[in-house]
Amino acid sequence: MCVLHKIAMALVVIGALNWGLVGVFHYNLVMALLGSWPMVERLVYVLVGLSALLMLGACKCCVDGSVCGMEKK
Ligand SMILES: [Zn+2]
Repeated sequence: MCVLHKIAMALVVIGALNWGLVGVFHYNLVMALLGSWPMVERLVYVLVGLSALLMLGACKCCVDGSVCGMEKK
């Protein structure tokens, strides 16, 4: 997996864990950490969403290494 998709994967996992916390404990970690900076908090949500979209395209680009081409497997 290329660097781009490793970063995207990490963000998706962080986002998913946060949703898990919200569901189980009604605790939004991102809001707790970044609630004082609404723009930054919003940016994190946007980045997580964009990362999920990136991950949807991960198989093709990371298998043949040609589309995002950051790094071969
Ligand atoms: Zn990739």
